[in-house]
Amino acid sequence: MPTQLPILVQTPAHSQVGGALSYLSEQALAPGTLVRVPLGRRETLGVVWDAPMAGGPKIASDRLRPISSALDALAPLTPAWRRLVDFAARYYQRASGEVALAALPPQLRELDPVQLARRLKRLDAAGEHTPTGESPPPLTPEQQAALERIDAEAGPFLLFGATGSGKTEVYLRSVQTLLAREPQAQALVMVPEINLTPQLEARFAARFGAHAVVSLHSGMSNPQRLKSWLAAHSGAARIVLGTRMAVFASMPRLRLIVVDEEHDPSYKQQEGARYSARDLAVYRGRLESAKVILGSATPSLESWHHSRPVAEGGRYVRLHMPSRVGRAESGALPGTAGALPAVRRVDMNHQPRGAVFSPPLLQAITERIACGEQSMVLLNRRGYAPVLHCSECEWKSECPHCSAYRVFHKLDRTLRCHHCGHTERVPRACPACGSPDIRPIGRGTERLEEHLAELLAGVTRPDGGPVRITRIDADTTKLKGELEAQLAQVHSGEVDVLVGTQMIAKGHDFRRITLVAAANPDSALFSSDFRAPERLFSLLMQAAGRAGRDAGISAQSEMWVQTHHPKHPLYENLKKHDYPGFAAQQLKEREQAGLPPYSYQALVRAEARTQESAQAFLNAASRLGAEAAVSLNVTLYPAVPMTVQRVANVERAQMLIESPSRAALQRFLAGWHDTLHEVRQGPEGKALIRWAVDVDPLAI
Ligand code: ADP
Ligand code: ZN
Ligand code: ZN
Repeated sequence: MPTQLPILVQTPAHSQVGGALSYLSEQALAPGTLVRVPLGRRETLGVVWDAPMAGGPKIASDRLRPISSALDALAPLTPAWRRLVDFAARYYQRASGEVALAALPPQLRELDPVQLARRLKRLDAAGEHTPTGESPPPLTPEQQAALERIDAEAGPFLLFGATGSGKTEVYLRSVQTLLAREPQAQALVMVPEINLTPQLEARFAARFGAHAVVSLHSGMSNPQRLKSWLAAHSGAARIVLGTRMAVFASMPRLRLIVVDEEHDPSYKQQEGARYSARDLAVYRGRLESAKVILGSATPSLESWHHSRPVAEGGRYVRLHMPSRVGRAESGALPGTAGALPAVRRVDMNHQPRGAVFSPPLLQAITERIACGEQSMVLLNRRGYAPVLHCSECEWKSECPHCSAYRVFHKLDRTLRCHHCGHTERVPRACPACGSPDIRPIGRGTERLEEHLAELLAGVTRPDGGPVRITRIDADTTKLKGELEAQLAQVHSGEVDVLVGTQMIAKGHDFRRITLVAAANPDSALFSSDFRAPERLFSLLMQAAGRAGRDAGISAQSEMWVQTHHPKHPLYENLKKHDYPGFAAQQLKEREQAGLPPYSYQALVRAEARTQESAQAFLNAASRLGAEAAVSLNVTLYPAVPMTVQRVANVERAQMLIESPSRAALQRFLAGWHDTLHEVRQGPEGKALIRWAVDVDPLAI
């Protein structure tokens, strides 16, 4: 008699099939086994799941369909992996099937048992870590101290290390210690962005051998991804490097998890199950008794808060590495070679009106060029100008489909909406009144680059040649390989000034840059998003970390900030490279305002053809949840339009839910889940296009 098996499949979002489906099987298959099952008219991949708790609906066996086949050449996914999926689904309000199937490599869905067996055979048995020639450098005292505590204590650890303090070496040694003790163990190392993986992969491969390391990220082809996944799942790969999705990698012998640049917003998934890979990493570490190291020079305020002293309720072990490698003994002063750069604030209130580059900054860049050194200018807006404007009739380049302006891109003379992608040729005359007097207002990186080229036109390099300026942003790096090519130009010294968005501030190890400038960073000081100052501080600290990394270059490095608020505490702390000071000030404000990490938030977002319908759905759900909210000490705020209210002709609204207790918020959301589905089916949900819950949202 066939057995009845609970099986997770990819169910459409919000289909309300939260749990597993039942199928019949001739063999009893262990939970975690991958299977192929019929679903509707298709056949699909599924995972045998754990028996549901007693009391669930029993379905008569004669109405169940049998599984098609079992992919039992693969070891079952471990209980810890299944717990991770169940937790993520519950916590982020999605179906376990959606989370589980999204965590598996896409190609696995297409393979039958025969094809899979062939792939497994091809997967070479290698994977032993064969240390290649590279011998590790002697540790700095700070690295030594950090490693001793990582070895002795349970963690999780927050490795608070200045840029250039050698955090990567700490990760490498932690892995090395682990593998020396347990040769079959596995380590997961996460980075925020795909383009940071090659550099890191090279370092790990040099230390542990190329066979021991695999990467997992969405930039890989499906066959590559399957290969890496199988190497991790079979235990053949010792080290998995990846972006946020790698937090779900199947690693049966996982003992160590590293989250590098743990503050980076890219760790938050922004669609489907909106999980935080950083938070899940900590949870997974606990589930699997794996050590967790979160590393950053500017930790998220959440992680910083968690690493306060134990006596004050802290849960993470804070490890501090304040010095750049090679500078600890000599006690380098800020601004000297190899040390952190000196921060210079330019008070733009005292500069020529409308100046984009203040004369002193321009002078400083000119001097760097004359010495053969590189400068980097940051501006957080791509394109030529954020809006085109008619001075006759006040027409502006609004997007017809969004509540946003289309950005003027000069190079290809287009107006492009950065929200819906709507693109048109720039009109010759005002589309409203016909006046030829239409002008760009404001500045993006493209215009900044053009302007800087004009200002530096007379300046020459040491070799007598003209100044070379390059721009790196999402527009110049659209094609595969372009970013690498541009970065190589910077590294080789072919470029004197690099202009770009935050893209250039992250992680890249530029050796010859000695001056970094933030052209116009003030807007984040007064943003409606309470996390904007945190992001700005982190960006500026990271950018400053790009400067003066090479102690061999003689010059003093500098970080320039052009601002109308030079005395703002954020810049005061930046000048002192004082992250703890900045964090203390921000946390105080957050505590007074009852914001995270002193409260917990979730957002429900709704999209509809009209703003009224979107809000009606949220308000109806709010009314039905009001009583439960009160009893749980959860606050439901009224529905409001999102900051960019309309995108591609869809109106968007959101509703904030807040509680001083994470558990209470979770309990409320769990109970409210069915209500949202019911409202969706009812009159207030009729005009709705879609809705989604975002737990621990990063942007409000
Ligand atoms: P972080 O990730 O903290 O910004 P890195 O790990 O990139 O810093 O280290 C900065 C530089 O210092 C790298 O070039 C690295 O190879 C080098 N480095 C790290 N640790 C040591 C050490 N103990 N001795 C010599 N060089 C080191
Ligand atoms: Zn006009
Ligand atoms: Zn648009």
